[in-house]
Amino acid sequence: MKERTLSIIKPDAVEKNKIGAILSKFEDAGLRVVAAKRLHLTSEQAGAFYAVHKERPFYGSLCEFMTSGPVLVSVLEGENAIARNRELMGATDPAKAADGTIRKLYATNIERNAVHGSDAPETARVEIGFFFNGLELPPME
Ligand code: ADP
Ligand code: MG
Repeated sequence: MKERTLSIIKPDAVEKNKIGAILSKFEDAGLRVVAAKRLHLTSEQAGAFYAVHKERPFYGSLCEFMTSGPVLVSVLEGENAIARNRELMGATDPAKAADGTIRKLYATNIERNAVHGSDAPETARVEIGFFFNGLELPPME
């Protein structure tokens, strides 16, 4: 099934100048980048995006990290885009991520882990709407 998912290249990977390398991973796996922008999140925006984690002990530190530099937010489209992106990303903890995955290659640690990807159709819909308005999203092909 053709899907869309939200990807964020996090401040650690942007700082390492890996935007192109990471987008190439998506394209090489058959996903299309149908919308993209580079942003520097405010703490309000980071806090709202990660509100689902607000009771977790790492929430404050995660929000601080996510505002520490620019990010690249994009919408990926393709067959099973949500699961495919999660496979390309690898495990949350790069020490546990499979060889060749984005987190294995480019993450620093479990918090500074290079990329975000939506985990289900409903979160993808909400997360895409968080960053992109209708005019910025082409109709599904
Ligand atoms: P994922 O990004 O793989 O879906 P989660 O949704 O569980 O992982 O967590 C969201 C983000 O919070 C992670 O990508 C990571 O940046 C951070 N995080 C998760 N677990 C920890 C942890 N134990 N310590 C510090 N940061 C964490
Ligand atoms: Mg998650």
